[in-house]
Amino acid sequence: MTRIKDITNLLENLAPLRYQESYDNAGLQTGDAQAEVKGVLLTLDCTEEVIEEALQKGCNFIVAHHPVIFKGLKQLTGGNYVERTILKAIRNDVAIYASHTNLDNVVHGVNTRIAEKLELQQQRILVNKPQTLMQLVAFVPVESTEEVLQALHTAGAGNIGEYSNCSFQVRGKGRFQPSEKANPTIGEPGKPEEVQENRIEVIFPANLQSRVMAALQKAHPYEEVAHYLYGLENQNQEVGIGIIGELAEEMAEATFLAYLKEKMQLQGLRYTTIGDKRIKRVAVCGGAGSFLIKDAIQQGADALVTGDVKYHEFFDAESQLMIADIGHYESEVFTKEIFYDAISKKFSNFAVLISEVNTNPVRYTF
Ligand SMILES: [Zn+2]
Repeated sequence: MTRIKDITNLLENLAPLRYQESYDNAGLQTGDAQAEVKGVLLTLDCTEEVIEEALQKGCNFIVAHHPVIFKGLKQLTGGNYVERTILKAIRNDVAIYASHTNLDNVVHGVNTRIAEKLELQQQRILVNKPQTLMQLVAFVPVESTEEVLQALHTAGAGNIGEYSNCSFQVRGKGRFQPSEKANPTIGEPGKPEEVQENRIEVIFPANLQSRVMAALQKAHPYEEVAHYLYGLENQNQEVGIGIIGELAEEMAEATFLAYLKEKMQLQGLRYTTIGDKRIKRVAVCGGAGSFLIKDAIQQGADALVTGDVKYHEFFDAESQLMIADIGHYESEVFTKEIFYDAISKKFSNFAVLISEVNTNPVRYTF
């Protein structure tokens, strides 16, 4: 039997909730995490129509990118679409989960999916999220060092880029005096003791803190584990917003616009012109990414592909890069594929369906 919790754990391994922005509300919005999953429906937005679709298709779990509960709810009387959606979900025992800015902020999330659609090469994160790495320093008796390091690595510590099981150690002398009430592994209560110990150091992503600390406590032989825990300012290559990469061949403006329309399946888009300049380096950000215009220019992007750009923000391009506003929905609709790939790879005992409802509230006429 698969529980809702099993799927949310999987999604949070991919996009830890800790990486969501402070204004966000990602996570389980309705439902019981312990309930059995009968079927999963994947969507960009959770609306009443999507709940109806879930019911018709026998799904009791909806995974969305945008949280339907985003601001605080003061009543649930059905006065607006958010309240009606939540009421309908609760009445029908449908759980709703949102993976939002946390999925924007991880390297295999929303923006990599756009970069893949555009076949960008040499992809990297445009702006790294600060303070997402930590360091643990622990003092371990020499003979227990291997066991403790193994436990820390199993918990996810010591991965740096393409390198795993990374650590540093140096030997020294540990001194301590247990109290009369202590129950020391080495030495006797009330007597000073000296032991050969290794100082071991590992780094790990901040979202693994509780798992890594639990592994240390469990594997370490001492009653009180001497350790230091630090937050690091080092850049984490795996966490941050936007992706920048390069097209296989540089393109003239008109060619790039046609390319964007084809690859992102667009009816149209709004853009700033760069005249005769050609486009090679491209930055992308799903949803509303105009806050990245300056970073994209600084990093030499010839174009920024995003959504929700306001009139005055288009001026910030300063003719240095093309701002291509492809629409919020159009830039993120492929997020459903990320959920699909992650869930269907791991589970096969229930249906995983991509919603067929077009939840885009914006329509076009030309
Ligand atoms: Zn969005």
